[in-house]
Amino acid sequence: MLNLRRLLAKSRLGFQLQHTAAVAVKNEPILEFKPGSSERQALEKALNDLKQQTLEVPCVIGGEHAWTDEIRYQLCPFNHSHKVAKFCYADKDLINKAINAALSAHKEWDLKPVEDRAQIFFKAADLISGSRRAELLARTMIGQGKTVIQAEIDAAAELIDFFRFNAKYAVELQHQQPISESPSTNSTVYRSLEGFVAAVSPFNFTAIGGNLAGAPALMGNVVLWKPSDTAIAASHAVYKILLEAGLPPNVIQFVPTDGPLFGETITESEHLAGINFTGSVPTFRQLWKQVSEKLHKYRTFPRLSGECGGKNFHFVHKSADTVSVVNGTIRSAFEYGGQKCSACSRMYVPDSLWPEIKKNLLEEHKKIKVGNEIFGPIVAVYVYPENKYQEILQLIDTSTPYGLTGAVFAQDKNVVAEACKVLRYSAGNFYINDKSTGSVVAQQPFGGARISGTNDKPGGPHYILRWTSPQSVKETHVPLTTWRYPYME
Ligand code: NAD
Repeated sequence: MLNLRRLLAKSRLGFQLQHTAAVAVKNEPILEFKPGSSERQALEKALNDLKQQTLEVPCVIGGEHAWTDEIRYQLCPFNHSHKVAKFCYADKDLINKAINAALSAHKEWDLKPVEDRAQIFFKAADLISGSRRAELLARTMIGQGKTVIQAEIDAAAELIDFFRFNAKYAVELQHQQPISESPSTNSTVYRSLEGFVAAVSPFNFTAIGGNLAGAPALMGNVVLWKPSDTAIAASHAVYKILLEAGLPPNVIQFVPTDGPLFGETITESEHLAGINFTGSVPTFRQLWKQVSEKLHKYRTFPRLSGECGGKNFHFVHKSADTVSVVNGTIRSAFEYGGQKCSACSRMYVPDSLWPEIKKNLLEEHKKIKVGNEIFGPIVAVYVYPENKYQEILQLIDTSTPYGLTGAVFAQDKNVVAEACKVLRYSAGNFYINDKSTGSVVAQQPFGGARISGTNDKPGGPHYILRWTSPQSVKETHVPLTTWRYPYME
């Protein structure tokens, strides 16, 4: 598919591009798992293989498996008697060992040409797209309680897209070079951050874990990956796939451990160069606070990237298409039990449409099959006098401290334009006549500001820039023959 080598040629300054050709990458198609399909058969086999099995997941530090006495289990969320994985918590010594092992690998990895690093992620994406897909989906379904489609859009499609698009963006970034004026040549070298990056991932998305650790690694960083206790089985599968694709053993250390202990230990190290976090607001605030309290210790200002939660809205105008409203709200609020950061949790409906929307929402809601997995998603509905919609837009903007996702349902283009203005800062991902969930890598880069996070937009072309520390290089090709300026003559 790609011949990246042809894009690049060595110069005395490092890598410079000869051509400006873009690297062609497409979103991974979402498979349907129809009865009798080959993907369904492979998945059924993988699910069967995992049934009642307890996977042993070690810490992987310095390229070696490590176990401590702090044994933990990941339980199947819809069948607590099934221990999906047995793992252990790394202790402080082991976390420090992981830091040292990562640092020892940094120089060589950082100097590796970006095309070579990118190839590893293209390969990992191909493995997930092919031979490893069923196993990763099965681990995500059983370990994190997902239906087949929820696992497919996360652990397969989104993770593949993250790896492929990040790799494409990383290679293309080398084209972004400064101008040169004779007799000098200027260039930008996209170095990694100096030190190590800590990736801390949440329970609910396999793809996010892979991206939090993978994107900094792609850019030449060494990483300590602390997966979530409740996503251990799938995270470990992603880690193994990266190794299988050719990632050198010490580039990412796999460090399951107690969250607070991890936070405390990594923020103690003078070599902390960045934290790549997705999870709750209190945890991210705690990490930020620890970094700021220890700021005097660090060799460099650590880069903090955090994607947190939301109180996402659906605003319905009287001109809205009510069928879209009902179906979009059911999907957004209740898919994956409402456990998505982008799930709709507040809805504003004009009184004129409420009877119809209420009736249809309740009718559709009744059809949702609830397993013995209960998270308890709630949508609060605010019914407003239809001519008061401008006040409601203000209310939406000001009534929560979050700014993650939100949707406006209206056919009236003037109202849409007005809503875009009033709600400009209320959502980092803003939808018009579409539900507030379901962003796709490279199509709707994801993230919000306010207390929803640092809005670095994973899945977009600029995200990888967070994991580089560019160096500007000027090379002059003629000797400087005098220190004096012309006006001095
Ligand atoms: P969490 O904050 O409880 O945990 C996230 C990770 O942080 C886990 O690995 C946990 O072990 C670790 N951790 C906990 N305390 C820590 C500490 N003191 N220091 C360092 N690490 C620590 O979040 P969660 O329940 O796993 O995830 C759900 C949250 O994530 C929700 O708020 C959801 O909205 C948010 N989320 C946001 C996005 C997004 O892209 N914006 C995506 C998915 C989830």
